[in-house]
Amino acid sequence: MDDEEKLVNPKKTIEILQKYDFRFAKKFGQNFLIDPHVLEKIIRCADVTKEDCVLEIGPGIGTMTQFLAEAAREVVAVEIDSKLIPILEDTLSAYENVTVLNEDIMKVDMEEIVNDHNGGRPIKVVANLPYYITTPIIMGLLEKHVPVESITVMVQREVALRMQAEPGTKDYGALSLAVQYYCEPYLAANVPQNCFMPRPNVDSAVIHLKRFEKPPVQVEDEHLLFRLIRASFAQRRKTLVNAIANSPELSFTKEQVLAALAEQSFKPDLRGETLGLAEFAVLSDALGKIGRTEKSPDTQAD
Ligand code: SAM
Repeated sequence: MDDEEKLVNPKKTIEILQKYDFRFAKKFGQNFLIDPHVLEKIIRCADVTKEDCVLEIGPGIGTMTQFLAEAAREVVAVEIDSKLIPILEDTLSAYENVTVLNEDIMKVDMEEIVNDHNGGRPIKVVANLPYYITTPIIMGLLEKHVPVESITVMVQREVALRMQAEPGTKDYGALSLAVQYYCEPYLAANVPQNCFMPRPNVDSAVIHLKRFEKPPVQVEDEHLLFRLIRASFAQRRKTLVNAIANSPELSFTKEQVLAALAEQSFKPDLRGETLGLAEFAVLSDALGKIGRTEKSPDTQAD
């Protein structure tokens, strides 16, 4: 299908929207792409080839799906809005390698999709994400250890900046650390509001997250590391000691945190925003050791 015939041509998008009398649902974050250059850039950045199985989250009326279907071996597209399903049947009728699932991405079994459509081998995720659930979608993919090779997604620019932020910068936070524990982020493009229909109120960006085979730091307890990170940024203005000691998710005393910091020769008045992933990892192991030592009499009594 040439680009004139595709939905990326705004005339085609309007034609389809009118044919089905489709009304955009704000609650589903529906902003459809209408710029062929942006689409080509996303496909190139995702490095989609005829070997690949791609998971698309939120195909909308199928604008990006048409491009993905031509570039990939197979596409699985998960769309929550049932009103879009008959439209997708129409706009994707020329492609035999696309499966559309009318499901909520937060509830669907992604592991099963990977097993059924790619024999359990890692897939590529490509999407223009609904902005109201960007972070839970990305963290869900990473934390549940879904076999994923890379994630190339359009997100709010502000979120893209947070994902690739370095310690000590204003955008740095729990999301930066969580993403950088699993992936190498690369901001591939800034996308202005006029590339969408309807126009969103925020600027967007395409971010490519290449999953590491092994995290760049090793810790004894991944859950403790992430609870520590969340606690440190939940109360950004507090020192690390107070943020950790006051966290409802953790049960370390101020003295224990001070002891762990001293063990690593960290200053007692540190703030979380200055620590990198490697420092959080050593702190996590030091606190884990203190926790285990102090709990051991109970454990032995059991
Ligand atoms: N991919 C299309 C494009 O680029 O033009 C549409 C992108 S639009 C920003 C987001 C899409 O995600 C919409 O089609 C919306 O209905 C869908 N969506 C929203 N929440 C979803 C969820 N929980 N699960 C699956 N799809 C969802």
